Amino acid sequence: MYAVHQVRESGFSVVALEAAPSVGGVWYHNGYPGARVDVDSVEYCYFFSQELYSEWRWSERYAPQGELLAYLEFVADRFDLKRSIEFGARVTSATWDSDQSRYEVTTEDGRRFAASYLLMAVGNLSAPKPPDLPDLEAFRGQVYQTSSWPVGGQVDLTGKRVALFGTGSSGVQAVPAIAEVADQLYVFQRTPNFSVPAVNGPADVETWRSHAVDVGRVKRELQQTRLGRHVPTGTRSARDYSESERRELMERTWSAGGHAFGAMFPDQTTDPEVNSWVADFVRDKIRATVSDAVVAELLCPDDHPIGARRLCLDTGYYETFNRPNVSLVDVRTEPLTRFVPEGIQTEGGVYHVDAVVLALGFRAFGGALYDAGLVGVGGVSLAQWWESGPKTFLGIMSSPFPNLFVVAGAGSPSVLSNMTASIEQHVDWIVTCLTRMREQGMRVVSPREDAEERWVKEVDEAASALLRKDVTNYMVHVNADGSKHFMPYAGGFGRYVSICQDEADAGYPSLVLNS
Ligand code: NAP
Repeated sequence: MYAVHQVRESGFSVVALEAAPSVGGVWYHNGYPGARVDVDSVEYCYFFSQELYSEWRWSERYAPQGELLAYLEFVADRFDLKRSIEFGARVTSATWDSDQSRYEVTTEDGRRFAASYLLMAVGNLSAPKPPDLPDLEAFRGQVYQTSSWPVGGQVDLTGKRVALFGTGSSGVQAVPAIAEVADQLYVFQRTPNFSVPAVNGPADVETWRSHAVDVGRVKRELQQTRLGRHVPTGTRSARDYSESERRELMERTWSAGGHAFGAMFPDQTTDPEVNSWVADFVRDKIRATVSDAVVAELLCPDDHPIGARRLCLDTGYYETFNRPNVSLVDVRTEPLTRFVPEGIQTEGGVYHVDAVVLALGFRAFGGALYDAGLVGVGGVSLAQWWESGPKTFLGIMSSPFPNLFVVAGAGSPSVLSNMTASIEQHVDWIVTCLTRMREQGMRVVSPREDAEERWVKEVDEAASALLRKDVTNYMVHVNADGSKHFMPYAGGFGRYVSICQDEADAGYPSLVLNS
């Protein structure tokens, strides 16, 4: 949406192709019970317009999905964006035509477009992972996916027996909300994740007011932070604290809620022993919260360092397991056999349910891009070019794909940063590049292959000290030979912004420009 606005403002013509019937992206599709952002709303929004920032009031610290969608509709109307968007247009192929120097784009319903430049703002966590559950089609009840939740409020789980699969951020948010209304909720857990309290509440009006004075200043400030937002971040090694000081800091951060818990000590992400202190603290919290000791132990993550998979934020997740209508089914100790018409069969018996909720995650980073059928120079597809992990320059461009720009994708801070800050920075960088090309009479741009290789190495190096690079999860690309590539750029948003800025200031030495 910001790209439509900026590209138009810069005097280019634009058409945006959107598969959904309206704006909102993930916030359109992920309307499951309990869905809300886990970044403070006053910073999870656009900073490009003083008026826009001042006109919109957030109600809660973490806005619920409905409010985020309302905000995005508001933005679309405020800047008259919909006149440039074709809805219900799912792109299935986009092929570079070297003779014409443009992409031939087709949609699922046969619409065709020719585009000099292609900006892919398709999201990293937007292509739902297909459910790979045995005999799911045999189940006679309702099946819902958090990532493609029916729009319009027609799902009512009140009084139903529900089974939920997947205990990442989506599942951890959905469980307490579904438990409130369901007759019975069975949570099928494969891998327990670490979750910390969100501590939701009213929006931080003081910060909003202070940000609203000068959004340009705040935007620049956010671009100097590691995460693209203001999060209290510790700079002293955990080893420099006494045990009681460390504990006190963890207690304080736990009580304040949010992702600050992942940034208390700089070495909690790199030093296994420090990490285990933090993990033990959370495991103790789980044991103190969940009254059934066996269930508590099953909920305690034991196979990965804390923060090695994205830290979940929750509102009453662990407490939910004290409810009489909620049961944990640990599929590691009670393996799933198959779905049957009346529910789910495990080695322990049959769970009779009316509905199944799948919170299985996404085909992260590549998924939505591959689905768009991108084909570059020499007929190479993006899926082929990225076979051994995403190969990009700055996460924005890939060498065999001239005039293609990816917004906030693999190779950029993306999911490690506040996505709204990343999106604005990327769109600004891309539009500046296009504008300068136009000024210089240039029409075709792609990164130099050596620059792309250097960037892939830099992305690897930025993650090299992190415990999380070796833990299999959606941020890690695993090759057939077992080698791993951590996909987002982990060097910090601030550092990344200055690398991008240096490239532009130096006149794009890493790009090949042609008329
Ligand atoms: P996810 O973190 O990838 O979690 C997927 C879950 O499904 C995991 O627990 C996984 O278990 C389980 N699973 C997958 N296939 C399974 C199978 N066949 N059988 C049993 N379990 C299976 O996905 P997500 O929860 O949708 O979250 C993805 C990301 O989206 C988050 O990290 C976050 O970046 C974003 N998100 C943000 C918010 C927010 O802002 N509040 C909310 C939701 C999501 P294994 O771990 O064993 O594979």
